[in-house]
Amino acid sequence: MKNFRRGGKTRLFLLFVITRYKNLMSHMNLIASIALIGSVMAVGNFLSMRSEPIFRVVLDPGHGGISLPNIELHGDRFDSISKKYLSPFAEGASHKGLWEHELVYEIAVKTKHLLDCCAPNGDFAKFRQILLRYSNVEPKRIFIESYLSRGPSKNREEILKREDPNAEFRLYDYPNKNGNILPGRISRINSIKPHLVVSLHITKEYSTAYRGLSPVIVAPHSLLDQGLSYLQGKIAHKEFFTLSPYREWFAESAKKPLFHWFLSDVASYFTGYPLTDDGKIDIKSFKGYRYNMVTWAYRDPTGWENLARNHPEDSQYSSSIDRFIPNGKFWEREKSVYEFYRRDNGEEGFGGDNMYASSEIIRFILFSLHLHGQDHPHQKLTKPYISTWSVPLLVNAIAAFVELGSVANARHRYLFIHKQEEIAEGIAVGIYSLLAGIRLNKSSFRYLPKGKRLEFEKYTSPDGSCYFDKAVK
Ligand SMILES: [Zn+2]
Repeated sequence: MKNFRRGGKTRLFLLFVITRYKNLMSHMNLIASIALIGSVMAVGNFLSMRSEPIFRVVLDPGHGGISLPNIELHGDRFDSISKKYLSPFAEGASHKGLWEHELVYEIAVKTKHLLDCCAPNGDFAKFRQILLRYSNVEPKRIFIESYLSRGPSKNREEILKREDPNAEFRLYDYPNKNGNILPGRISRINSIKPHLVVSLHITKEYSTAYRGLSPVIVAPHSLLDQGLSYLQGKIAHKEFFTLSPYREWFAESAKKPLFHWFLSDVASYFTGYPLTDDGKIDIKSFKGYRYNMVTWAYRDPTGWENLARNHPEDSQYSSSIDRFIPNGKFWEREKSVYEFYRRDNGEEGFGGDNMYASSEIIRFILFSLHLHGQDHPHQKLTKPYISTWSVPLLVNAIAAFVELGSVANARHRYLFIHKQEEIAEGIAVGIYSLLAGIRLNKSSFRYLPKGKRLEFEKYTSPDGSCYFDKAVK
């Protein structure tokens, strides 16, 4: 209760200062006004440092657009070298009339309603009542500004009538009809400089090993870098991969070994080119330089396309694995300690804060369903999907990425249709816990969350600048 009151007092005091300031303005000369503005700002800064910070959280429901046949117009991954989209738009999973993009949006909206209780002017008393079902300890009042990464997508007829139906749903920056580049979803997320991004997805295909809720994580740079050394012939053994916690790599099909898919993703991550079935660079399947397809602080300098289009050796644009050199801000960022915190080691033993945040949100969803009397053997935390996924790779925020289950599983379908409120509560309480921590009541529940907050402090460098703020210039 102490912290909760302190937040209220701070705001009342600020209101008092601002009101006094307005009354005084009419009586004062210019110089004195400037001095007062300065002092009010100083008091404001001081208070904001003393009181709780505002956490910025983006809820990112997957997909939303439509897989239209003409990729030239309707694709994603716009490549500014060829001025073409390199991928079709991924519209997500569907089964028997249930669509991933609709369900994850509905759940994200319900989650945002709950998180809005933690906004500076939110009804925290309401959220406090929910939190008290998870913990007997008085919850700390924290401040959360939450955002959705996209609008609704249910009305397909209306969307198809739009000039560019996939515009707001694209992950990557894209041109309008005048050729001006507009920010895609990843750029819009970065412009918010969030502390936490929560991407929500639903699968269709899954093996029994993934029958549940799954974290989705991006592998650490060190592992990918060893993959590059292997492809360059500098490492002869495969143990760096087969003995690593990241060895269960995401496979596009079971026809080839996981190590093949890993190496192909390594090649694509570094050079933009995947591998052919016989392990050579697939020169016909250019995937582009993804870090240059978003607006953020780690793009190569303006005009990089002029150099890149010839794919010169001994540069970051080399189409030869052996002559690839990781030059540029993005590759410096990849090697940074902050990316290590996000993607390696950490609370779960691997996968860094991203893996912890994804797993905690899943545990909170499962625990919320449990507290609401909804238990089922198909509700469990499974092993993660590991690859070089776009959203967690290309944001500075801690990235929780969750597959909520399968649209083809009867139990999951039941939850997606009838238990959205309970799922949203689990996500919202999980987000709160990642930001503030929760000491959970004792329980023998198998997937009891840890309730430990993320250590945001370690993302602040000695000069006081914060990694999350550095996502955009
Ligand atoms: Zn999806």
